[in-house]
Amino acid sequence: MLNGSYASLKTDAINTNCAFCLRSNFATNILKETDAFFIVADHAPLVEGHILILPKRHFACYGVVPAELDAELLALKREVQDFFARYYAPIVFWEHGIFRQTVFHAHLHCFPFGATEYDATKTLHSLVVQSQDDVRAWYAMHGHYFYMEDRSNFLLFAPETDRYLQVVKHVLWPGASSHSQYSGWRSPQQRYEQGAPLIRATMDKWHEFQRLGADFADKTSSR
Ligand SMILES: [Zn+2]
Ligand SMILES: [Zn+2]
Repeated sequence: MLNGSYASLKTDAINTNCAFCLRSNFATNILKETDAFFIVADHAPLVEGHILILPKRHFACYGVVPAELDAELLALKREVQDFFARYYAPIVFWEHGIFRQTVFHAHLHCFPFGATEYDATKTLHSLVVQSQDDVRAWYAMHGHYFYMEDRSNFLLFAPETDRYLQVVKHVLWPGASSHSQYSGWRSPQQRYEQGAPLIRATMDKWHEFQRLGADFADKTSSR
């Protein structure tokens, strides 16, 4: 597969139509902005606390986000992790790749799902990730992927429907249903329509977290 040229073609082709390239599309949901990234409350949240970390520049996925942004990304992941630890449950990071992706602009979902039921011994995953370099190397060689990170697993998966459905079933679905008042699976449209109070609650807690932040960071930095 000609992944390099595919990625750059794709990037150029959809840039002007990309929802995440236009700040005005999510301006009201921005929790934090750094030089290269936004943290935003998801506009169609699965659960309260559902947050996205996205680069400002258009990249098709984190597999092409350059290494010079790694430190900034890592710091933001830690910050959301601390936020969830304070208000919700341990974090699950999720990049769904081509599955159910509606915006082809890199974005990392952050879910307060706590411990997952993913069984690492079943090796549904294709790669145990040590750093963003591994994600870039996979994408350069194989192309698409999806990614799941919980407390003990940093895993990249080949983009096969079987694997995807297994991870949804054992990780996302239990997490979403046990941390939400909604019992059935809701469509993105339903989640959007019902999202306002969840987004407001997330943003209120985030702002409180920022006010308490200096204090809390002191206590947790020794972890
Ligand atoms: Zn974009
Ligand atoms: Zn997404």
